[in-house]
Amino acid sequence: MKTTVFAIACGALLTLAAPSQAAPIRVMLLDGDSAGAHPWPPLTAVLKQELDEAGIFQTDIVTAPKANDPELANFKPDYSKYQVIVLNYDAQDWPESARAPFEAFVKNGGGLVTVHAAETAFPNWKEFNEMIGVSGFRGRTDKDGPLWFMKDGKLVSDTAPGNAGAHGRRLPYVVTVQDANHPITKGLPKSWMHQGDELYNKLRGPGANMTVLASAFSDPANQGTGRDEPQLIVVNYGKGRVFNTLAGHDANAMSSVDWLVTFQRGTEWAATGKVTQKVPADFPTAQTVAYRPNIAALDPSYKNGLNALTAPAGPGRGAGGGSGRGGRGPQ
Ligand SMILES: [Zn+2]
Repeated sequence: MKTTVFAIACGALLTLAAPSQAAPIRVMLLDGDSAGAHPWPPLTAVLKQELDEAGIFQTDIVTAPKANDPELANFKPDYSKYQVIVLNYDAQDWPESARAPFEAFVKNGGGLVTVHAAETAFPNWKEFNEMIGVSGFRGRTDKDGPLWFMKDGKLVSDTAPGNAGAHGRRLPYVVTVQDANHPITKGLPKSWMHQGDELYNKLRGPGANMTVLASAFSDPANQGTGRDEPQLIVVNYGKGRVFNTLAGHDANAMSSVDWLVTFQRGTEWAATGKVTQKVPADFPTAQTVAYRPNIAALDPSYKNGLNALTAPAGPGRGAGGGSGRGGRGPQ
C-alpha cells in the first residue's frame, strides 16, 4: 500500500513538473535587412534575449541576405524545423523564390510574429499584407486598404483617401485592452502605460480575419489622429496564426515590460495557440511605466537617452533608463 501511495505521489509530481520539461518551442528569428530608423542587429539582440528569458523557446537566428543582394535567390531556410517565425527584416520587396516558402509556412499552420519595424516591410507583397492585417509607410496609401481603428469598442474602417502610417514624438502613452478573453491578453490589466515609443497611426490594409487585442489613443496634441489606433493585432491566415505588435521602435521601447510580456505571449500563441506564461509582478499600471534596464542597455545608443532621435539632448538630460522609473519625453 505504501508503495502505491508513493507511486501516485511521484506521478503527481511528474505531472506538476511537466510544463517546464516540455520540448521548447522552436523559433526562427529572421533578420538581415532594415531601414535607417530601425537597424536590425541591436533589435535582434533584444528579441533573442526576451525569447530566452521566457524559458520556453529555442531560438535560431536566421540571417537572410539583404533584399537587393542577388544571393537572396539562394536563401532557402528549412522552415519545417520551426513552429513560428519572428520577423525582424524590413525591406521594400522580396523575389518570388523567397516569398513562396514563407507563405506556405504560414498558410499551412506556422506562426508569424511581426514587430514595429518589420511590419512595415513588403508593401507590394499581397499575401504578406494579408498576414499582418494593417501596416503603414513604404509608400502605402488608400490603394492598399482602408484605415482601421477602434471606435466604441468596435473595429471600424474608413476608406478616406490618403497615405498610410505616421507617428508623433516618442512619449509614454496608455494602451487599452480591447479583447480581454484572448490567450495573449487574458490576465493583463485593462490598461497600462507604455514606455516612450512611436505610436503608429493611419494604419491601412486588408484587415481580413483580424482582431485588435489592444489599442492606444493617438493624441492630436502629439501629431495624432484623435482615434484609438491598433497596438496588438492577431490575424488568422490560412491555418496559421499571426501576431502583429505595432509598438517597439527601439530597445528602450522593447524594454517596456508590457511590450516584452506581450511579445513573449504573442510568440507562444502564434506557435501553439495557447499561452502558458504568467504575468510578471512588474507589469506596468495605468499610471506608471515599467521597463527592464538590462534589455534597454542592449542598444548601443541607450546611453544617448530615451528620445535621442526625436529631441535635442538638453543639458543634464541623461540616459532615459536605469532608474527603473522610465524616461519622460521633452516638454
Ligand atoms: Zn520606428
